[in-house]
Amino acid sequence: MDRKKILIAGGGIGGLTAALSLHKAGFEVMVYESAPEVKPLGVGINLLPHAVRVLTNLGLQEAMAEVAVATRELIYFNKFGQKIWGEPRGMFAGYHWPQFSVHRGTFHMLLLQKVKDVIGAESVFTGHHLLSCENKGAGVSAVFNDKKHDRQVTVEGDALIGADGIHSVVRKQFYPVEGIPKFSGVILHRGTTIAKPFLSGSSMIMAGSRSKKFVAYPITKPDKDGNQLINWIADLQVSEDENIMVRDWNRRADKAKLLEQFKSWEFPWLPIPSLINNSEAIYEFPMSDRDPLPQWSFNNISLLGDAAHPMYPIGSNGASQAILDAECLAECFERYDDVATALKEYEAIRLAATANIVLQNRKMGPEEVMQIVEERAPNGFDNLHDVISQEELDAVSARYKKIAGFELEALNQKQ
Ligand SMILES: Cc1cc2nc3c(=O)[nH]c(=O)nc-3n(C[C@H](O)[C@H](O)[C@H](O)COP(=O)(O)OP(=O)(O)OC[C@H]3O[C@@H](n4cnc5c(N)ncnc54)[C@H](O)[C@@H]3O)c2cc1C
Repeated sequence: MDRKKILIAGGGIGGLTAALSLHKAGFEVMVYESAPEVKPLGVGINLLPHAVRVLTNLGLQEAMAEVAVATRELIYFNKFGQKIWGEPRGMFAGYHWPQFSVHRGTFHMLLLQKVKDVIGAESVFTGHHLLSCENKGAGVSAVFNDKKHDRQVTVEGDALIGADGIHSVVRKQFYPVEGIPKFSGVILHRGTTIAKPFLSGSSMIMAGSRSKKFVAYPITKPDKDGNQLINWIADLQVSEDENIMVRDWNRRADKAKLLEQFKSWEFPWLPIPSLINNSEAIYEFPMSDRDPLPQWSFNNISLLGDAAHPMYPIGSNGASQAILDAECLAECFERYDDVATALKEYEAIRLAATANIVLQNRKMGPEEVMQIVEERAPNGFDNLHDVISQEELDAVSARYKKIAGFELEALNQKQ
């Protein structure tokens, strides 16, 4: 049997994990990344145990454990800092794998280094922006703009995977009239601040509700002065007309405006105003997604990660689901010799599963409990269970874990 050559458009988290998974399964892979140089961009992300399992099988857990924080617990509060719900996470909850909170850029660079070490630096072509692709004969043909040499190059292979993010060119080719991503009405403000640890030192917290929410978690271990890099996200609902910004991950936000909104959120366990005030840069991004698609795989071309299923960053699933796609893709290629059949099977397994999460995240996913409490007790509460029962709290959490595929017992049965 010949060794299949798989082209991956996009060297982000999904594309690089797919490259590692496909290489491990014995395929030849080439990654074409639009950026002239891969830089450690972004702020914090979370990787759930099901995704860490995949990374562990790719030999990355040790390196991850060095640069990431193993998240101990997740706690939801209302806007007055009153606790609604808390649960242990990752290995602290009994999973065989941790939940990692990590700087996206650090994780991305680690993945890239692994690809270079294991597959070879010559397998990654930076400065190559995919312009178009087509099924051709028994394989595919893709045209890239080679930015460094200011020329177009045509590459042929057996399959092409569009891992080219929320503005995917591959997706647009099959869905030309889809338009821009759908705005949720919420602007995300993302920042990092060097600060003393809060709560357990590896806690993830969320406070507020849909229209005004604050999320914080550390993404580095304490330094010699006992400080950590705390990642935070402040969500603010705006009117539809205010959605004039470009979906650029690196757009700067106004600190003073944000501080004004959160000035009273001074909790004894986390002084949010000073976290905002002492931050370095703050980036703003309109929280957006796209409707689930009816089809990802078109003969020998398919989609993966944000190109396939961009979702709200709720429930820590964006990067995790791209990683799960990568594992499934490689397994399908191993199982079926015919490329189109493998990609159809990959779609059959992953499309409905991720579409469910996209839709569930529109309803706030597991954070629904914060919205319920806000609606029932907008001025706070004396006794939480007068507002929401423990059964209701437990049910929301359990339902989301099932939808997102990280139910404890089911996951722990896997290798
Ligand atoms: C610069 C940047 C910063 C981000 N910061 C955060 C963050 O702080 N927190 C968070 O939760 N999520 C962030 N994300 C999104 C997050 O990485 C994804 O939601 C998730 O990891 C899924 O990964 P993905 O590989 O599908 O998409 P992405 O990580 O977005 O990767 C897509 C890759 O494709 C490349 N690309 C795009 N178009 C083309 C093309 N035509 N040809 C070739 N390559 C192309 C992009 O340069 C990028 O490297 C960021 C994404 C980017 C690109």
